[in-house]
Amino acid sequence: MDYEGQICRPPMERGSYKLPVAVGCSYNQCKFCGLFKHLTYREISMETVEKELLRVQGIGGYPMRIFLGDGNPFGLPAERLFAILDLIHKYFPRCQQISMDATITNLREKTDREMRELYEHGVRELYLGIECGLDDVLSFMRKDHGIEEAYCQLSRLERSGIAYSAHLMLGLAGKGRWEENAEATAHFINRTRPKKIINTSIFLSERTPLFREIEKGNFHPADELENLREEYRLLELLDVEIESYDGFHDNLEVRTRGQLPRDKEKMLHHLKEAIDREELRTAEKESDKTGERNGRKERCRAEEGKVEEDRIEKLRKIS
Ligand code: SF4
Repeated sequence: MDYEGQICRPPMERGSYKLPVAVGCSYNQCKFCGLFKHLTYREISMETVEKELLRVQGIGGYPMRIFLGDGNPFGLPAERLFAILDLIHKYFPRCQQISMDATITNLREKTDREMRELYEHGVRELYLGIECGLDDVLSFMRKDHGIEEAYCQLSRLERSGIAYSAHLMLGLAGKGRWEENAEATAHFINRTRPKKIINTSIFLSERTPLFREIEKGNFHPADELENLREEYRLLELLDVEIESYDGFHDNLEVRTRGQLPRDKEKMLHHLKEAIDREELRTAEKESDKTGERNGRKERCRAEEGKVEEDRIEKLRKIS
């Protein structure tokens, strides 16, 4: 199957076979997300999905874990999902786990019964774009949910037996709000207890509506030092068991992975080192800037001095 879009899946799913069942994201409105803005959402036909399963079977593939693509496949109507899951079990009866990305709205649109049946059909885990713990930020970023709605839908999901894992985004609250956001997000995570966490530093791409907000002065991005501090504070406050945590700051090449609470101290130490390095780098940059500014001032003063000398010299000649 020709894949349309940007390959994106949780790092914990790198060993899973990714089976696209839709192109793009049916929501596609989050301001910070540029993954699918260039695509028109559509479902992939059942014939194409079946052909792809046959292709994999034909080359001897036998996936035990399958990750459905793309942006929010859990938003497909339940009947459609049942048909896809049946096809998967037809070709790969020993497949043990099916997972996919989802939004809170996708949960709201499924009945309790549908969710339970999806579990019985092999759906074992959903990755939800929680992003942060502050309602005003979720609303500004045009996420499809608020905090209370997320609590309500995640408790329904828990009752269905399907596990929930969280996507978070460092820096989403903008400049100066790292601590507030870390605390709100920790509170949310401690209450909802996801199985896994993927925590990425915000990536500002020109393709996103957020970029336009920055240009208009409506959003002031946090720097990477703030993002590191946010992650450190969040980890400090997490008080739940997390099977797998993966946090990364692509701009700095800092990655913090582990299991909580087992690896907490090690992870905090790793982040503290990254913070120290970034503080030093920021201080050096500042002192370079100050040096440059002082240099400019010196040059100006020297030029002013030269003008004054010339003026005195001229006056002397006249007198
Ligand atoms: S729901 Fe997910 S994939 Fe869709 S626009 Fe939002 S962040 Fe992007």
